[in-house]
Formats: sequence, structure tokens, C-alpha cells
Amino acid sequence: MIRDMTPDTSSELRMPARFRSVRRDVVVIGGGPAGMAAALAASQCGAHAALVDERPSLGGQVYKQFSPAFQVADGMQGAGYRRGRDMIAAVLASSVEVLTDTAVWGIWGRDVFVCRSEDEVQCIHADTIIIAAGAYDRPLPFPGWTLPGVITAGGGQSLAKVFRVAPGHRILMAGSGPLSLSFAAELKHYGANVIMVTEACRRPTAAAVWGLFRASPGNWASLREGIAYLAALHAHGVPLRWSTMIRRAEGRGRVERAIIAKVDRHWQAIPGSEETVDVDAICLGYGLCPSNELTRLCGCAHGYDEQRGGWVPWRDEWMRSSVPGVLVAGDCAGISGAAAAVDEGHVAGLAAAVASGRVSADRATVLAQRARRRLRRHQRFRKALDAMYPVGAGLYDLANESTVICRCEEVTLSEIRAALAHGLPDAQGVKVFTRAGMGFCQGRMCGRQVAAEVARAAGRPISSVASFSVRPPIKPLAIAAVAVEMPERRRPIVRLD
Ligand SMILES: Cc1cc2nc3c(=O)[nH]c(=O)nc-3n(C[C@H](O)[C@H](O)[C@H](O)COP(=O)(O)OP(=O)(O)OC[C@H]3O[C@@H](n4cnc5c(N)ncnc54)[C@H](O)[C@@H]3O)c2cc1C
Repeated sequence: MIRDMTPDTSSELRMPARFRSVRRDVVVIGGGPAGMAAALAASQCGAHAALVDERPSLGGQVYKQFSPAFQVADGMQGAGYRRGRDMIAAVLASSVEVLTDTAVWGIWGRDVFVCRSEDEVQCIHADTIIIAAGAYDRPLPFPGWTLPGVITAGGGQSLAKVFRVAPGHRILMAGSGPLSLSFAAELKHYGANVIMVTEACRRPTAAAVWGLFRASPGNWASLREGIAYLAALHAHGVPLRWSTMIRRAEGRGRVERAIIAKVDRHWQAIPGSEETVDVDAICLGYGLCPSNELTRLCGCAHGYDEQRGGWVPWRDEWMRSSVPGVLVAGDCAGISGAAAAVDEGHVAGLAAAVASGRVSADRATVLAQRARRRLRRHQRFRKALDAMYPVGAGLYDLANESTVICRCEEVTLSEIRAALAHGLPDAQGVKVFTRAGMGFCQGRMCGRQVAAEVARAAGRPISSVASFSVRPPIKPLAIAAVAVEMPERRRPIVRLD
């Protein structure tokens, strides 16, 4: 017999013992250049700003600081480190409340939920939320990409820059765009043996170089940096191969060989041009993707821009998204670089101060003028660079049937294609059917390739295929942090006698 046993709800549920709820004018998510500039601008106008970052220290990606365990001589630190150090010092000396080692795992309305330790959850209610969550290396699935020794360029950069460890003894830097060049030059600077750099785009034409030069006023530092990277590679005798792309990585137990090939302007391999290079490390630098999980979670409107890493949130001139109270700054709104991130953060911080009534809109307009002028110049320069390094559609054609696309759940391309053959209409359907995108990284590694396969199967452009849906917690979270404490042992709902 089955009897209904209604649960006892007489006593109230209690939140975890270490739950706190606070209120701030502004909460800024991300302690990179954009987030730090936003928090500083808001606090300088008198707003009470909290700056949250999941890493142990501020700085974000490019202004990342060395571990306190290292003592690095002045000359070895690099300009990014020094700029970051000064900016971090300014934030720490300001009234900004800094919460490091603190991950944002969910946003509901204007409530930002953070986890500070295994079991300490905080809800920060804010008038304005500024999302400045940065970007991550664009994943590139190809046969052999899961072999040990194949890493992202950002990973290689962190190993060399922060830990002074070379990714290997014979390193191939395979990628596209100025960041890939900078990674290679940086690795070389730290003494790593980069044996070759492959660039998927064609050698720039005279017209493209002239376009970049015309966009350079106000961006001379960036141009100088780019030339310095090229000169450094040349000086170290590192060959730079244009129109060349990684095809496969091979080896027993770890990477031993890279198979590269000449590609056309769409990054499609030219038959018969394959070449084998002996390596023990491959760093992949095919651009970056915006960390848009939080903007998607908030329901912000997005548009597709392959050049800027995929789905990017729409913003107005104050960095306001389509959702009232949610602003977006820096690379998570499309890859623009550190200098633009600082200016966007500054403008967003001023907008937040206006929203909290700490400064008038007129005053904020005056304070934002210089940053806005620089942003227009950055934009011109970025467009010229984009014309020089157009992303090719061949990016999505490297994997073969047995290539693992979702690394977390080990789902291969053939499994994804088999799921699509059942008539699944979208990426979400593929996720449910195959578990691709359900693992630890929540689709950051496989999401674009799955979308590309959906687009291919439907004969549509990738820009018309929505990403996997995003759900909290967007960062791994201990159950103890969100478990609700029950007042007393509950009886089962249904008992079978
Ligand atoms: C791998 C990589 C390497 C790069 N190397 C260079 C380089 O060599 N030179 C160069 O000029 N530019 C480089 N860039 C680009 C440069 O880092 C960016 O243009 C710039 O840092 C953008 O600043 P940002 O503040 O928007 O993001 P970031 O500097 O990336 O900062 C974002 C911050 O948000 C935090 N965050 C994200 N999500 C959460 C969350 N849910 N909860 C809490 N905190 C969160 C992150 O921990 C991070 O600290 C690189 C970018 C990447 C991704």
C-alpha cells in the first residue's frame, strides 16, 4: 500500500551558518584592468564599491602578479607587471572593498552570490553590477589536442611568466594575431626554446599595413610593441611561417610531433602541404573568447562577432547592457586589450556612480571624456588589426570523427554528429543527448565546436546557433556552501508498506 506522507514544514529552514547578506552601491566582478579601473572610478566619486575576484590577488590576466613565494629582480618583471603593480596599489589604497579568493557563482536580479571559502556564501545586493570577467584562450579541437604537452598559449605564458617554467624543450607556437606573437616573444624572453611560430593568416598586404599605420595615432605604444615582438623573434632566429596552421599532434603518451600545413585565407588546408615538426610542446594561440557566462546568466542581449571571440553583450556608450543595472567592461564584452579594458572600466565605474546618485550625469560626462576619446582610437586600431588577422572558418574543420570535443565528458565528434543525425535542432539538444558541455568547464571548451556542428548540419551560419544555456553555479561550488540546514529530520514523502 502507498500512503501519502506530507513533509513536516512546521519549523523554518535555516540558511548555512556562514551566510551573510550585505548591500553595496556597486559590485564589480573581476579584478583585472577593467574591473580595477571601474571600482576605482566609482569609489573616487564616493560610491561604496566591492571588487570581487576568484584569484588570490588582483591583476587579472595581463597584470597578473608573481606568487609571493618568488622574488623577481626589477629588470625581469616586465611592463605589464609594473603597470599592474601600480594599479593594484591604487586600488588597495582606495576605499574599494577588495574580496579576492572569492568566486561569483550566480546573479539573481541585483543580488550577486559569491563563495569565499568552501562553505561561506555571501549575497551582495548592489544598485549596479559591473561584469568585468575577462576572457579565456579560444579552444581549438584537432586530432591530438588532448595529448599532454599541447597547451593554450595563455597557459604557456603563465607557466613562463608566473612560475618561470618552460612548457617544453622544443616549443611550437601555433596561432594567429598579435597575442600569439607576443606569447612567443615573451616565452623567448624568459629563455624558452620556441622553435617556430605559425600564423594562420596571410602575410599582411601593403594596404593592410598602411591601414594599421593610419589607425596608429594615439596607439603608437601598441604598434611599437607589435614591432618589438617581431624584431625579438627575428633576432632570436625563430622562423615565423605565415598562412600555416596546426593540423594534428601525434605522440605516444605525450606530444612528439606537430603536423602543420599551408592554409588558404579561410584557414582551409592546401592539399599536399603537410609537414612534420618534432616538438615536445605546442602552445595554441588562436585568439580569445569572452567569458560571457555572467552576462548570459543575467539575460543581457548578445550579438555574434567571430573576430571578437563569439557572443558579445550589447552595450551603450556608458557600458550599460540591455539589462538595467548590469554594466559590462573589458574583454568579456569582446576582446579589445588591456588599455581599452582600463578605459571601458573607467566609464562603467562613472556610470555606476551616477546610478547611485554619487555624481551628476553632467560631471560624469566630463570625467569620461578622455577615456572615451582613447576608446575611439583603440577601436580604430582594433579594426585595422582585425582586417590584418581575419579569423578563418577553417577553425571549425580540424577535428575528425574520433577527436574528443568535450574533454570533460569525453564526447567525440562522431557522437555529436550521431546525435545531430537524430534531428536535434540546437546545441542544447546535443548537450542533453550526449552530455557534451555538462562537465567541469560547463561548455567553455566544446561549446563553439558543438555550435559549429549544429550550424553545419542545418546549413546555417554559426552566428544563428545559440550557445548552451547557462545555469548557476557558473563556477564549481562546494555543496556545503549552498546546502540549506534542515531544522529536524524530515520524514519521507511516500512510504511503501
Ligand atoms: C590567456 C590570456 C593571455 C593574455 N596575454 C596578454 C598579453 O600577453 N598581453 C596583452 O596585452 N594582453 C594579453 N591578454 C589580453 C589581456 O589580458 C586583456 O585584454 C586584459 O587583461 C583585459 O582585462 P579584463 O579586466 O577585461 O580581464 P582580465 O584581465 O582577464 O580579468 C578578469 C578577471 O575576472 C576574474 N573573474 C572571472 N570570472 C569570475 C567570477 N565568476 N568570479 C570572480 N572573479 C572572476 C578573473 O579571475 C580575472 O582576474 C591575454 C588574455 C588572456 C585570456
